[in-house]
Amino acid sequence: MRGGPNFYKLLLNALHCRCPNCRQGRVFRGWPNRVLPRCPHCGLSYFRESGYYLGGMIITYILTAFIVLGVYVASLALPGAGSFSENLAFAFWACLAISLTLLLMRPAYSLWLSLDFWMDPWQPDEPK
Ligand SMILES: [Zn+2]
Repeated sequence: MRGGPNFYKLLLNALHCRCPNCRQGRVFRGWPNRVLPRCPHCGLSYFRESGYYLGGMIITYILTAFIVLGVYVASLALPGAGSFSENLAFAFWACLAISLTLLLMRPAYSLWLSLDFWMDPWQPDEPK
């Protein structure tokens, strides 16, 4: 594993959804999580194997679960938190989880790609 001060840059790069190789090309072509087949700038493949972005999904779910749990624990401390009906509470948590999933999906996919590239870099197919 290679590490050092570049890790922070890598995280920043991942949050901006840029190619981990050249940091210029976009990763996504559509909302919410349509990943381009390769970098439009340097030609780096974004799909190393089929089912590659399962890792991105897992990161999304873990982050979502942590945030929902955090909000839930915080809500227990609020006065009157138990006074909502079960249906209303369920609707609230479902909406929160869905919005978080949509919100976190892109950075999580991008982070997955960047982490993988950081640990085990591969070459662009067609160098420019
Ligand atoms: Zn690139």
